[in-house]
Amino acid sequence: MHEILDTWLRTAAGRIHDAAPRLTELDQAIGDGDHGTNMDRGFKAIVAALDGRTAPDPPVSDQAATTELLRVVGRTLISTVGGASGPLYGTAFLRASAAVAGMPEPATGAAAATGVGALGKSTAGEKTMLDALVPAATAARAALDGGADAATVAGAARDAAQTGAEATIPLLATKGRASYLGERSIGHQDPGATSAALLLAALADTVVG
Ligand code: ADP
Ligand code: MG
Repeated sequence: MHEILDTWLRTAAGRIHDAAPRLTELDQAIGDGDHGTNMDRGFKAIVAALDGRTAPDPPVSDQAATTELLRVVGRTLISTVGGASGPLYGTAFLRASAAVAGMPEPATGAAAATGVGALGKSTAGEKTMLDALVPAATAARAALDGGADAATVAGAARDAAQTGAEATIPLLATKGRASYLGERSIGHQDPGATSAALLLAALADTVVG
């Protein structure tokens, strides 16, 4: 699991870098135009952290390695991404880490989304990253309960996140900077929901890969 995570994060870093201009453009419309650079900075720091890691000696279990890796990612995002999205995404990874430590993996998505909502005092439907993360976690859960394999689960999460991100366009923002625009936030796709969908697309490609 921690090897898939490593590959996912590196793939995601590349995708985030390539998509940074688009994420920034979306944030220019309803925020302050820094979401692309924020995320790019954070994921570059994650790759640097991955590169700097050495294999534990003595070796640890895959569960322990996954827990630790998710914790490093969470801390890195909190300390390097400026803006609201850093602590929010960072918390998502820290909650996922705690979930992996304490329960079977499938609950990690729900734990991550719940952590974001708790920190952001937000819920799906308010034009934030939760509009991608919550449906993705729900779709993953449903696929797992239906007995789907890992690739199918990741694919379901990717599709739900993409649909959720696109569905933010007509929404009125009530949280974060976009909420300052009131009605003028309507008609634009949320940058954080867009980056969340991008991260889950990278995950689906990694799990299939
Ligand atoms: P900032 O808004 O501080 O400039 P970013 O531009 O990096 O930070 O991130 C903006 C994104 O953060 C938004 O598009 C939204 O998805 C997400 N966001 C902001 N506030 C919240 C919140 N309270 N709950 C969930 N997500 C939020
Ligand atoms: Mg911003």
